[in-house]
Order: sequence, then C-alpha cells, then structure tokens
Amino acid sequence: MTKAIGIDLGTTYSVAAVIEDGLAKVIKNAEGENLTPSVFAVTDMGHKLVGSAAKSQAAANTENTVMSIKRYMGSDYRVSLNGRAYSPQEISAFILRKIKSDVENYFGEEIEKAVITVPAYFNDGQRQATREAGIMAGFDVMRIINEPTAASLAYGLDREEIQTILVWDLGGGTFDVSILELGDGLFHVKAVNGNTRLGGDDWDERVVDYLTEKLLNEHGFDIKSDKTALQHLKEVGEKAKRELSYKRAAKIPLNFIKTNGNGFKNLNVSIDRKTFEDITADLSEKLLGPTRQALSDAGLSAKSIDRVVLVGGSTRMPSIRHLAEKTFHKKPYIEVNPDEVVAIGAAVQAGVLMGEINDVVLVDVTPLSLGIETQGGLFSRIIPRNSIIPTSAGQIFTNAEDNQTVMDFQVLQGEREMAVDNISLGQFQLTDIPPLPGGKAQVEVTFEIDVNGIVKVSAQELYTGVQTVIRIDASHLLSDEQVKEAMKEAEAFAEEDKKRREDVEISIRADSMIRAAELFIEERREKISASCLRQIESAILKLKEALAEGESERVKNRTEETRKLLDKM
Ligand code: AMP
Repeated sequence: MTKAIGIDLGTTYSVAAVIEDGLAKVIKNAEGENLTPSVFAVTDMGHKLVGSAAKSQAAANTENTVMSIKRYMGSDYRVSLNGRAYSPQEISAFILRKIKSDVENYFGEEIEKAVITVPAYFNDGQRQATREAGIMAGFDVMRIINEPTAASLAYGLDREEIQTILVWDLGGGTFDVSILELGDGLFHVKAVNGNTRLGGDDWDERVVDYLTEKLLNEHGFDIKSDKTALQHLKEVGEKAKRELSYKRAAKIPLNFIKTNGNGFKNLNVSIDRKTFEDITADLSEKLLGPTRQALSDAGLSAKSIDRVVLVGGSTRMPSIRHLAEKTFHKKPYIEVNPDEVVAIGAAVQAGVLMGEINDVVLVDVTPLSLGIETQGGLFSRIIPRNSIIPTSAGQIFTNAEDNQTVMDFQVLQGEREMAVDNISLGQFQLTDIPPLPGGKAQVEVTFEIDVNGIVKVSAQELYTGVQTVIRIDASHLLSDEQVKEAMKEAEAFAEEDKKRREDVEISIRADSMIRAAELFIEERREKISASCLRQIESAILKLKEALAEGESERVKNRTEETRKLLDKM
C-alpha cells in the first residue's frame, strides 16, 4: 500500500515519521540519524550538500552554506551560493528532497505523499512557500498542518479525558503558542499565536555576542570581521547553550582564534547558567505576549489550563521551563521528545488522511485575520483570526465612479488596524467590470481559507453575473516557470545525490573487500602458493589504485575481480 509520511521541516533540524502497524515512528536518514540538519551548501566544485554533510563543512565554507532558511520562507529574500541566487523554497526543497530520497531508500519504494508541518503562526505566504517547496521536492503535499497541533496529535492520541492543553513550541527559529481542547478523538484548536522570528538561534546569537565581547575585552582578540571564526563560535556557542540546560556552567574551547602570525591560539572560556539567563532574559519574556493574547482569544485564564506541553528543542532550557511553571502555576509536561513529536504528529495526520487511523478529528484555526485595505488605509477584517478552517466569507464592493471597469484590491493578513502594518498577500485587480453608473456595480469578493490554512480569493460581479479575473501579485511566490525550473534542479540533485550515494557504497564495498583479501593472506600465507599470493596482492594493489583515482566503475569492476579471485581460492 502507498505510504504517506509526516515531515517536520524545522529551522535547525528536519524529521520524517511514518505510521507502521498502527504506530508512528521516526525514520532514520541515510546517515542513520533521526534528525537531519536543515542545512544546504554548494561546494567550490559546484556539488550540492544537504544535512550533516553541509553542516560539517559550514565553518570552512560559510559563504556558500545556508542555515535556518525557514526564517525567510514566504519572503522575497534570495541567497547567493556559488554565484547562483536561490529562493527560500528552493533551499527547503533540497532539504525535502534529501528526506524523500532517504525515506525511499529506507522503504525501498517511491514515497510521494506527505504531510508537512509549519509553525501555527505562519501566514499565507509562508504556508504557500512551504507547500511549493514540497512540490518542488517531488511530494504530493496532502496537507500543511500546524506544528503545535501536530504535537498535540502525537501527545493526545491515547488520552481519553477532555483536557485543555496549552502548547509552547519554541524551536530554532520560531515560537508558537496554541490552546487546544482534546477529548474523544477530537482535537479542537481554540487559539493560536506566536512569533515567527523568535527561536533558539536568538539565544545562540546572544552567546556569540557575549563570547565576542569577552574575547576582545579579556584576551584582546577582535574576531568581529572574521566570518570563519564567527561560524565556529556559533557552533561552540550553541553547544555550550545546550550544555547549560543540564550543567551550571559550560567550558568552551576556542582553538580557531588566529594570532598575529599564522598560527592559532588555544583559549578556554566559560559561561555559567546565571550569566546565560541574564543575557537572554528579555528573549524569554517575549513568550508571554503571544501567550496572553492566545489565552484571551480562547476566553481562558492561565489557571484554567490543565496541562502545559513543551515542544521544540529550545524548551529544554531551564529558564523556559521555570517561566512556564511561574506563568501557569504547574509543572510543564516534558515527557514527549520535543525534537520528534511534531513529525510523529504529522505522521498521525498522514495516517488519518490515508484512512489508516480512524476516530481522530482535527479542528484547526487560522492564525491571522484576513481582509483588505479600505478607504483611508484601514484594514477591514473579512475572516477573523482563530476562525475554524476551512472557512470562507464574502463582502460586496461597488464602483465609486461611473463606468469604472477596473477595481484594485490589496489583500492583507494580520491584526493591526492600519493596512500598512499588516502583511500584504498581494494585490489583485478586478477587470472587465461592465460600465455602470457609480454605486451600481455589485462585486462580491470571496475569501477562502482551505484546510492547509492557504488563502484563495475569487470574485463575481453580481449585477451582470460576470465572473471577474483576479490576479494575485505576491512577490514571494514563484512563477510556474520558476517552480518547474526548481523541480528540475531538485530532481537533478536527487540523481546526483543517488550517484554520490552509490559511489560511497562502491568505495565502502571496495574497502571491505581489501580488508577481506588482506585477512585472507594473513590467515593463509603458509598454505597458499607463491603465485596465488602474487595474484591476490596484485588484485589488492589494483583495487587500491582504482580507489585512489576515484573512478567508481573501475573500483566496482576491480572489487568484483578480487571477490571472484578470493572465491576461487
Ligand atoms: P527544533 O527546531 O525544535 O529542532 O529546535 C532546535 C533548537 O533547539 C535549536 O536552537 C537548538 O539549539 C535548541 N536545542 C536543542 N537541544 C537543546 C538543549 N538541550 N538546550 C537548549 N536548546 C536546545
């Protein structure tokens, strides 16, 4: 039966999971890991690297390595790698491609269907971009679901009693708060809120700033303009941050600081938890605004929350756990694995959509109000935030002037009163309106939000029944041509990736063949003839030469020759 997978496309790591025999489990990647770093790089030679291969060379190739691309999803930001500009969805597509090829390798069959998660607070553009990335990677994106909702699906499946749950999801780049009511297989999201620009990366940055200052003030090294050293500092800083979650202080070895000569200085600095918490206190405080808003939208107080569930790697920080306890007057629930629970929930949703899991109903909401700009630059809400999705609503507009055949609209998402302060989803123009006296045309504009939280707009002139043409000009979206181009490139990358994997497998087989042949000689030196010995030694030598040349076909042939020779003997 066709399989469908769940993917948590995270800022720092991505995870894939599947339902097998009724149970959700994480699928290991080609490197045997549960988490794939969301990192993409292009080498000097033009090779594309994804995951730990990209991450491990990041410090040596900072210019052409990109991390945390999720922060830019839905924007028109472009990153230039080795002379070529990539959109955030293209970079994400490379990450998703690797996941696709790894799960296909794991199952030995093609996997097309996927549920991909996004932060609950992602706007339409960010959702569309995520969907596009999935399509570019060759997936049939069955559903885009909210990360905290996915987490609660994973968390709440086996819970009978109705509970009001609040999820804090603090990952590498985003923060979401969701309030849900769970019970009898019904997952009803009551309210969501968040900050798409707040996550573990911000805590890392504070550690880097702290260490940079310390290096300058206490050791006289100014590394502010040394990109490689800063990248190294970011890596060791993040490691220290993690250590501080279970230790009072973290020692940080710095062996990449250049001295005036050509050498490197070995330094040891340290940071204690108290200092770390002091320099990041304002970041932790930022969780409270969206939390208050979500509680107020759900008509609840902090006391009425039965359970606080912490999701996302950054909720391992003790400061966040204390903040949760202080805010909700109860210890947060930390039993779920915060790194994997979102992918598990996405797999559950995939299982529901494939009919493998029954009796689970998910009722989700839209995170942001949707509307248009009206007179005086005001934002007029048409679908309010936290409306249950899918939903639609319409509004009638008329012509201000006689014989007006064109009307311009600005579609917006957000909560601010002035249109300019909200996120523009694009402009559209109604054309072909029949020439009528002012106030006579009746144009009904309908806004729809589908189950993925993605917005569609349609319009009709009611007086004549003419269906009008709508053009959405969202700058972050790619043209059909660009999507096709990117798909082609991602496919080519998959081929390249497959080839590279085959090459690696060939050289692994060659290495073990050499070891086997050497062992053969070692164990039987006394028993075999001089001519046999020469033949095997020559085969080993030839195989080693082929390996050194890196010509896969030759390595393969010589491995086979050596194997046959050993078999014969
Ligand atoms: P996620 O996007 O959920 O994978 O979360 C990744 C973020 O969690 C990164 O910023 C990590 O540095 C952070 N993280 C992971 N483990 C820990 C830990 N033990 N303590 C603090 N932060 C952590």
